[in-house]
Amino acid sequence: MVNLYPDLLRSYGDRGNVLVLTRRAEWRGISVRMVGVTRGERIPAATDLIVIGGGSDSVQALAGPDLIGRRSEVADLVAGGTVVVGICGGYQLLGHDYVGVNGQAITGLGLLDVTTTAGRDRLVGRVSTRATFAGESFDVVGFENHAGRTTLGAGASPLAAVPVGQGNNGRDRTEGAVNGNVVGTYLHGPVLPASPGFADALLRQSLSRAHGPVELAALDDRMEDAARLVASRGR
Ligand code: GLN
Repeated sequence: MVNLYPDLLRSYGDRGNVLVLTRRAEWRGISVRMVGVTRGERIPAATDLIVIGGGSDSVQALAGPDLIGRRSEVADLVAGGTVVVGICGGYQLLGHDYVGVNGQAITGLGLLDVTTTAGRDRLVGRVSTRATFAGESFDVVGFENHAGRTTLGAGASPLAAVPVGQGNNGRDRTEGAVNGNVVGTYLHGPVLPASPGFADALLRQSLSRAHGPVELAALDDRMEDAARLVASRGR
């Protein structure tokens, strides 16, 4: 597993997603090698999962030049079955580009058919929904705080509808985007501790790269489910 730009893209404890993915694999006896990869460093060839956190416009601009150099490297990995998940700023950078509050465009990886432009105000609050990734549906709860308005093109499907919250753009009631093994979401929290179904869908899909379809043993998620219930009530 790779955490891309752990020194830059790490808003709101997004690193917690990496910890949850690692623990939920280890609790099933699956060992995980987690590697932080930042500017100028290579992503290991046999990477099952890449996690990218969120960050402010200025931090995204710092990652931007390095990211452009990775476009074919990451596209090749995805074609080979690597799963990529991006949160908020990381999600925006999985798309074609992000035009920030200062009007400057940062080119993204183009792995998701989405474009993002910052609006004048921020979309902030709790999001509670049911999402679908890799053929699995699960409950998700998180916290959004973004100026970016993301529009999906024909090549991307929404991760979820948002009955509660603003999501991609505050207009079309969608949240996040999916294209095959690549998924982006605006949800911090971090999102995975109280959304174990999402964590397991990411693990299952990433393990299938090297092992084919895998069964994951059930875990006792009563704590996670209770946390999600509490979080989904608060606004
Ligand atoms: N800079 C982006 C925005 O405001 C992302 C923010 C974030 O990752 N929380 O839209």
